[in-house]
Amino acid sequence: MFDDFLTFSQDRPGLYLRRLRWLFLLPVTLLLLLIAGLLVTLAYGHAAADIDNRVAAVKDAVLKIYRSDIKHHTETLAGIIEALTRDATIARALARGDRAQLLALSKPLYQDLASHYDVSHFYYIAPDHSVILRLHYPEKYGDHIDRLSLRNAERSGKTAAGVELGVLGTLTLRVVVPLYDDARQHQLLGFMELGVDTNHILDDIQMSLGVQLFEFLRKDLLTRASWEQGTAASGLRWDDFTRLVPTPLSLQRQTPPLMTLLRSGAYPETAAGVAFTSGAATYRAVTLPLHDISQQTVGDTLILVDTTDETEGKHMALRLSLVLGCGGGIGIFILFWILTGKINRLIAEQQMQLRRLASRDDLTGLYNRRIFHAFLDEEIARARRYGRKLSLLMVDVDHFKRVNDEFGHQAGDAVLKQIATAIAAEVRDAVDRVCRYGGEEFAIILPETDLPNALMIAERLRAKTADLVIKLHGDTQTRMTVSVGVATNRGNDEMANLIQAADRALYEAKQGGRNRVQASGGGD
Ligand code: GH3
Ligand code: MG
Ligand code: MG
Repeated sequence: MFDDFLTFSQDRPGLYLRRLRWLFLLPVTLLLLLIAGLLVTLAYGHAAADIDNRVAAVKDAVLKIYRSDIKHHTETLAGIIEALTRDATIARALARGDRAQLLALSKPLYQDLASHYDVSHFYYIAPDHSVILRLHYPEKYGDHIDRLSLRNAERSGKTAAGVELGVLGTLTLRVVVPLYDDARQHQLLGFMELGVDTNHILDDIQMSLGVQLFEFLRKDLLTRASWEQGTAASGLRWDDFTRLVPTPLSLQRQTPPLMTLLRSGAYPETAAGVAFTSGAATYRAVTLPLHDISQQTVGDTLILVDTTDETEGKHMALRLSLVLGCGGGIGIFILFWILTGKINRLIAEQQMQLRRLASRDDLTGLYNRRIFHAFLDEEIARARRYGRKLSLLMVDVDHFKRVNDEFGHQAGDAVLKQIATAIAAEVRDAVDRVCRYGGEEFAIILPETDLPNALMIAERLRAKTADLVIKLHGDTQTRMTVSVGVATNRGNDEMANLIQAADRALYEAKQGGRNRVQASGGGD
């Protein structure tokens, strides 16, 4: 019991409070870390979603503008070509299959259409689908065309349109119109066809959206030789590509990010696309499928979106949330650290006070009997361990009952207090322990003290008390004496033996006439 008290009172409180502090701070720290982590994840996720949203919006816009541009170009080309069919001279030349005249008649017109309407293809085709004249490539003629747009125009007898691959490997929006001789029972004279390379449409979209667009076509739909002819200057090889190749027209714009992407060998196969950096900029590459008139997928439109700003924003968000999260976390931690430190100091002070209260006697301020036992036990153990001397004095006030009887209890208390103060002043500070053992009995532990020295000290206490003028109440004064029993350890004593020996010596001192010091001869 006293062991517990001592251990607690002397060693534990610091440790105990430190543990208490961490018991509180650890969950707080974990919580702060969790909040900081959550903040960072949220900020990063939000910024990353920004990029995804922008890319999705760009894709959507490209698709919408592409469709509306196709529609617009189709209508324009149909208007132009239908107007041309009313030109009787052209109709006659077509009926005759007169290449030279058709060329002479249409060359300036083709140049106008090319510069004003991006027309890149202009054909005159015979009823048997053989090419009479390609204004965009006059040297090549006489071959047969087998395209759905042409067949549709023939079957319906009306203008037909659609995006289709040509023999030269270009994806072209084509508008085909059949010409009839109304005088001769609606006889088919041939076809006129205008085309706009879809690359021109992509050019327009690029300008309005500020992204880079490139056409990629399926290799199996193209002829390697003509692709290689068109792309010789690019340094790219047919075999470098697995499924799709960039069209020669697309490659006329060899932008640095495109070349970076192509050289890396990465191609966006999924909707999320491919993120990459080129120079100081970051990009996201995504694709949209390209369909032809028969709804067959013939390739992709590759879209390169510059995401530098968003990426920078993402990194900023990351840095900011890290700084805020960690800074705030550290700040709160420090705050809690200081607060818990203050609380700990308060608790420690209170514990000190409690310990003082628990170990001291109210009346005299001396150590009480409870702590006396703990001290004595400790000193006996120490003396035994190091083979040192240890003495115990038992001091009892002589005829104390008389003071109470004569002057009252308060006067008795005053006597006890003054004798206690006098005794405490006579012994070594912080070494000797003066305790109130009972009513008017004091026990004094004298470590490192042998019998002769203990007797000397006891005698000094006795004499000092005998000389002391004790104030009672008012001007009333008195003198008191004490009897002292002295016991010294013999090396192997138990606590009870030493107390008993001192008690017995005290009893002998009383028997011997009081106001005297009696040695027990030590131990039992
Ligand atoms: P002796 O010389 O044999 O020791 O005689 P004594 O009168 O001192 O001893 P006794 O044991 O007969 O009486 C002690 C008295 O001390 C009895 C008790 O009422 C009184 N006493 C004990 N504690 C206190 C206290 O705190 N205050 C006061 N005023 N008196 C106390
Ligand atoms: Mg007594
Ligand atoms: Mg007494």
